[in-house]
Formats: sequence, C-alpha cells, structure tokens
Amino acid sequence: MSSIKQEAERCLKCKKAMCSAHCPASTAVPQVMELFLNGEIKKAGELLFMNNPLSAVTSVICPHERNCAGHCVLGIKGEPVMFYRIEEYLSRFYLETMDIPEIKKNGIKVAVAGAGPAGITMSILLLLHGYDVTLFEAQDNIGGILRYGIPPFRLSRDLLEMYKDIMLRMGLHFRPNTRIGTNIMIEDLFPDGYKAVFVSTGTGRPNKLGLIGETLGHVHFAVDYLKSPKAFKLGQQVAVVGAGNVAIDAARTAIRRAHSHVTILHFMGEDDMTANREEIEMAQIEGVEFIHYAQAVRIQENAVRCVRVKRIEDEAGNVRFEEDYTDVFDVPADSVIIAIGQGPGADMQVAGVKLTQRGLLDVNEWGETDTPGVYAAGDIVSGPRTVIEAVAFTKKVFQRMETYLREQPE
Ligand SMILES: Cc1cc2nc3c(=O)[nH]c(=O)nc-3n(C[C@H](O)[C@H](O)[C@H](O)COP(=O)(O)OP(=O)(O)OC[C@H]3O[C@@H](n4cnc5c(N)ncnc54)[C@H](O)[C@@H]3O)c2cc1C
Repeated sequence: MSSIKQEAERCLKCKKAMCSAHCPASTAVPQVMELFLNGEIKKAGELLFMNNPLSAVTSVICPHERNCAGHCVLGIKGEPVMFYRIEEYLSRFYLETMDIPEIKKNGIKVAVAGAGPAGITMSILLLLHGYDVTLFEAQDNIGGILRYGIPPFRLSRDLLEMYKDIMLRMGLHFRPNTRIGTNIMIEDLFPDGYKAVFVSTGTGRPNKLGLIGETLGHVHFAVDYLKSPKAFKLGQQVAVVGAGNVAIDAARTAIRRAHSHVTILHFMGEDDMTANREEIEMAQIEGVEFIHYAQAVRIQENAVRCVRVKRIEDEAGNVRFEEDYTDVFDVPADSVIIAIGQGPGADMQVAGVKLTQRGLLDVNEWGETDTPGVYAAGDIVSGPRTVIEAVAFTKKVFQRMETYLREQPE
C-alpha cells in the first residue's frame, strides 16, 4: 500500500474537484492536500475540523466509494486517490493536539437532545460560537450509533473520548442517562432560560418483521445486540435477516464474539444489497455465509423458515421480487438477529412537535419544526442515513438557528 504522502502526491488538485462536489459536507479536498504536502498538518486538520467536526469519524466510516473516492477522476481509468486515509491522519492529529480556542461566552443557553453525530456536531458549533450548551443524552455516554451501534473493530472508541474531552473543555454541560420526552419535556426547557432546542434523537427503534416467532427467546434485534454483544448468548448457528450495513455489522460481531457459524439471509440478490461493497467483502472473508433470494416467513425454535424469491426485471429495467411459496426451506438457527431497518422511538410523540407519517420530526429545509425555537437534524429527520449526511444537515440547521438566536430578546 502506498504511503499517505505518495497518495497525496497523486492527487491532481482539480479546479472543479468532483470529490468535494460529491462530499455531503463539501470537504475542501484540494486545499487540504496542498496544506498537507506543504507540511502544514495542523492547519490542514483545523480546516477539516471547522468544516466537519466529525472528520476523524467520517474519514473512517463514510461510504467512500459513493462519495469522494467514487468520484475521483483518477478512478475513471485507474485507482482513485484515497483522500480519506490522509483525512483520517490529519483529523486524528488535530484532535490529539488541539488547543481549545479562547471563546468569548455570550451567555445564551441552548439545549441539545441526543449525543449522536448530529448532536455532537451541533454542540461543537454552538460552543465554538460562545453559546452555553447543555447536551441531554438517554445513554450514559456520547456517540449515539458511533458508540452503541458501529462495532469497535470498525471505529475505535478512543475517538469518542477525545470528542467528549474537547467538548467538556469548551464548557459543555453533559446530562447523561436523561431522556427528553419522558420526565423532561421540550416545553420544560424554555422556562429555564434555554432560547432554542435542537433535537437529534436518531432512529433507535428496530423495525419488526411481523412474523410468527419474533418474540421467542432466541430472537434479537441487531441494534439491541450491537449495543452490548456481551449480554447475548447466541449459540453455534446464527441467522441474520437483512441486507444492509447493520446486518453485516451484527454478523461480523457474532463471528468475533460467539465464534458462531453466521448466515445472512435476505430476499434480494448480492448486487441489490444496500450494504457497502467493502463491508460485504469483509464479511465474506471472515466466513459469513450469504443466502440470497430467501424471504423469511416464520421463525421456529431452531430455524428460520424461508421461501425462495424470484427476481423479475421488466424491459424498462424495473425490478420486483416475487415469493415462490412452492419452494420452502429452513435455515438452521440457534439465534436469529433481525436487521431490517430502524425508526424513531416513542419519545418524540409526546414532545409536542409535529411528526411525519413515519413518526420522524417534520422540519423544513432549514431544520425548523412547527414549534418556534425547536430545530432538528440527523436520522430523526431523514430516517436512517449516514454520519456525513447528519453532519452536513446539522451545519445548515446551525446557520438558521444562529440567526434565530441573535434575534431573541435578552
Ligand atoms: C449498526 C449501524 C452501523 C452503521 N454504520 C454506518 C457507517 O459505517 N457509516 C455511516 O456513515 N453511517 C453508518 N450508520 C448510520 C449512522 O450511524 C447514522 O446515520 C448516524 O449515527 C445518525 O446520527 P444521529 O445523531 O442522527 O443519531 P444517533 O447516532 O442515533 O444518535 C441519537 C442519540 O440520541 C439519543 N437519544 C434518543 N432518544 C433520546 C431522547 N429522547 N432524549 C435524549 N437522547 C436521546 C440516543 O441514545 C443516541 O445517543 C450505521 C448505523 C447503524 C445502526
């Protein structure tokens, strides 16, 4: 593998950089490369952090093939520049050596609900601009899915500790184990002096298959399993139902922790899977078995009953999947892990803000809810997406929220 310096030297520093154009956070790739090659690594790290405070995270777990690397012009005929490797190095170095800037406090209180990527990004932006931020988090620590979902072999937890330390040094008030929408409601915050509330509570509720057998003792939801894999006894044969990144993370964790034989089954073909190519490949290398075109129809004590699915593509290229109920088979399973997507929890139903039909927060393009002073971003607005998308929208919401805050009477 080439060194990161060699990798930076390959970059053409295009005037119209397609890598930047296809980064949801519009990372200034050519400028970062230039600073790096000139040896100005702290400046390069600062540029990354100020544009995307979570660049140390996104450089590791972004779907690069869909964003920067997937649009590098060098990738048309050869190998794209792996900017994210340089970004990871610079971002980590910056976090490790960061001097907390002297920030003049403005005394304006803002509440942030949810300490995942959106909540961390908003808190950092507010703190950098002098606001007095209190971050309420249902769990005992910051990170959201970065801590309680993505396995440590993909994202090192020391990064999250660095973020927590930086925010606390900037003056953050952190209230762990505090769920907004149970005892503290959004409307309770304004009388205590908060001028605005930012909601970033994510989509932590797993979707159900709706099948007979789903409540049995050997059946688990992937997001619950990934929260604390140690708490689960899975047995020798594990069947994971799903085709996305969450299914792959659960399967790869089960292989590591339970030394089980793990099978991923789902109703589509390999090319239709929504998981990243690299993740699928890693799971294959680690020995995960894939059964494509299998629709689970019932969960039994020791197996998942499936029917075969046919992939039908019409002349216009539209694809549909059709179950063949004459072709029935069982996938052996001591445990079944369900990974078919997530939705919002029930807290926001009582929070008094308008919801969409899917139960997500109903916001405009600036993240404004129907309640003045209440803003939202991240998965609770978009449904399950990616970290970089949560960061990018949070930045946009911050701009509107700042304007609102400046207009408020003292
Ligand atoms: C297993 C898994 C793997 C993934 N892998 C990737 C990947 O490789 N790359 C990628 O880009 N994206 C990945 N994603 C998606 C990505 O993690 C999410 O898009 C991102 O975390 C969304 O950020 P968020 O801040 O909106 O929500 P979350 O990360 O869900 O954070 C929400 C936070 O709010 C807290 N909370 C919930 N309700 C309340 C409440 N009422 N009061 C206070 N706090 C509350 C939660 O405890 C949580 O800490 C993955 C998702 C999962 C589930």
